[in-house]
Amino acid sequence: MSEQFTRIRYDRPRDHVARITLARPEKRNAQDTAMLYEIDRAFTLAGVDPDVKVVVLAADGPDFSSGHDLSGDLTGDGAEVYPGAPIVHQDTQSGLPGIEGTVAFECDAYLGLSLRWRNFPKPTVAQVQGRTIAGGLMLLWPCDIIIAAGTASFCDPVVALGVNGHEFFVHPWEVGARKAKEMLFTGDLISASEAHSLGMVNHVVDEAELESFTLDLAARIATRPAFALKLAKMSVNQALDAQGQTEAVHSAYSLHALGHANNLQRYGILIDPEGPAALRAGVRGGVR
Ligand code: ZN
Repeated sequence: MSEQFTRIRYDRPRDHVARITLARPEKRNAQDTAMLYEIDRAFTLAGVDPDVKVVVLAADGPDFSSGHDLSGDLTGDGAEVYPGAPIVHQDTQSGLPGIEGTVAFECDAYLGLSLRWRNFPKPTVAQVQGRTIAGGLMLLWPCDIIIAAGTASFCDPVVALGVNGHEFFVHPWEVGARKAKEMLFTGDLISASEAHSLGMVNHVVDEAELESFTLDLAARIATRPAFALKLAKMSVNQALDAQGQTEAVHSAYSLHALGHANNLQRYGILIDPEGPAALRAGVRGGVR
């Protein structure tokens, strides 16, 4: 494999199965721009490889992902651009200032990539343990099937940061409208068993069996004809689109950008400055 990755690993654990593993456990797999575009490059490798029929998305360490890495500049100016990124919006590389630059960046690196992975033309299976927070769900929810360890828990607490939720707003489909509101209003964690009961997770298994269960399922899916798998996936996604899912995601992103613009006007940065402390004070719920 000639590709050099620094934030992820890419391997072939079973026949016709590729695996992308988030490999930044010391940061609880916080996603910087490099990680996001490495994931996308790995999806492209799997997508163009005729021998790959199913892709597994897994993570090193105790937590699947703590979300977007917010350690960088939050003024919105000079949004980071990753070299070689597949640019969805051609203005992303122009380094536009303020909310204009933020929208260009987020529509590519956040919303754009999640939509690309949601529409990836082969089945995807997520293998998740520990916490998945905010932007972490933007890796998880685009996947077709989610296998969770009993330790897994999920939340989107970013209302505390002064926005409506993370940028890939499929919450009403993932957990239902009423639970989506509670999830957003409180920021509380949803446990693996509750996520299973809500239909957000396909199976909950012991953490010791998580990898083998996921790979066995992926290998079993990979025995089916690739084109029929693609058609089945497209059919379900098109059913969601007939309900307006993709349009709703774009609409919610408009409100997300409005939240950032409000923060920028009031505080000079993209998020409510009291938000990070509120988040550190504790994400409630879950199993630990
Ligand atoms: Zn944002």
